[in-house]
Amino acid sequence: MEEQTLTVELGERSYPIIIGKALLQQAPELLKDAGVLSKSKLMVITDQHVAPQYLEPLLTVLTSAGYQVESSVIEPGEQSKSLADYEKIMTEAIRAGLDRKSAILALGGGVVGDLAGFVAATYMRGIDFVQMPTTLLAHDSSVGGKVAINHSLGKNLIGAFHQPKAVIYDTSTLRTLPKREVAAGFAEVVKHGLIADESFVNWLERESEALWSLEPEVLAKAIYQGCRVKAEIVSADETEQGQRALLNLGHTFGHAFEALSSYSTLNHGEAISIGMCIAAKLAERIGFAQPGTYERTRHVLSLYRLPTAWPAGLTPEAVLESMKRDKKTVGGKLALVLPRSIGSVEVVKDVDEEVIMRVMREEV
Ligand code: NAD
Ligand code: ZN
Repeated sequence: MEEQTLTVELGERSYPIIIGKALLQQAPELLKDAGVLSKSKLMVITDQHVAPQYLEPLLTVLTSAGYQVESSVIEPGEQSKSLADYEKIMTEAIRAGLDRKSAILALGGGVVGDLAGFVAATYMRGIDFVQMPTTLLAHDSSVGGKVAINHSLGKNLIGAFHQPKAVIYDTSTLRTLPKREVAAGFAEVVKHGLIADESFVNWLERESEALWSLEPEVLAKAIYQGCRVKAEIVSADETEQGQRALLNLGHTFGHAFEALSSYSTLNHGEAISIGMCIAAKLAERIGFAQPGTYERTRHVLSLYRLPTAWPAGLTPEAVLESMKRDKKTVGGKLALVLPRSIGSVEVVKDVDEEVIMRVMREEV
């Protein structure tokens, strides 16, 4: 199958999301099309899981095409989205002589993308960067220009909006992704359906077996549709003044679950899977959602082997406290994204805390 391209439109600017097999081998041409020319020095940032498989071949094609390329390899995992790693990469970039015409290539999952993107956003007040996602979850994180690192007091607290020049999504890289990470990625794919497209959810239900076994054609379609929903919402609201908040379905609960499990027992996708289920149950309970929305939400997530039940060991009190500290809250008021039906969500302000507590207590 040929590659597919989507465009993220941002006023005067736009950038392509290119999805297809073996795209890393075509990196020089794709970079040139995106305006990253061979006179600019490049720095590839990746992690220790991705590097052994995909770094050398990428460096080889780029060097053969005349690019001068440096690379920096971080330890895998959320703890690398840190000030310490940020400083380390900055030091490497300065020593390597990257200048304002240089570009950063983020080869990896959301951790690499967020960290490398934040380096690019701030190196010499901002240089170009290109996202090269290698996880399914990164269909979400690589699109939209939110880049960030964590502070010890909270996740993604230090960041910027910095849009990539292009997203080059080589779906062949997903073959080596551990199954638990595949499932986590599907949580965000399903989220994009639940937010905006009921027919996509129907399709995700029908094709779950083919998708779970990463059949190339259906997988590319799922990534395309997920990116399309994200790209449309980002195009309408680049800096999260309104509509973009809808992408946080399941995330206020999910961030609390992640934080309270110290980012170890639950990964991001698992946490938001449970979060989307609780949001749907709550929405039905207050008469906001169509009956059956919760059951469908739970069903489609369970097809992708995602958890849908309350995370063991967490108390509703602690979850509510953590939700109030989320940076999405303004003035301590909880604004939740709740479904109306499958494929349609809204931001609901001032949901009664007592009702939230009651729904959570039933789940424990
Ligand atoms: P990740 O980058 O940690 O990748 C998951 C694991 O898979 C890691 O161990 C990684 O080394 C490994 N891996 C990556 N690609 C591989 C491959 N092809 N083969 C084998 N192993 C591979 O995590 P993620 O789930 O991709 O991203 C999570 C991060 O994304 C979180 O930090 C989250 O905050 C962020 N995020 C950002 C946005 C955004 O808009 N910026 C949106 C959603 C999530
Ligand atoms: Zn997410």
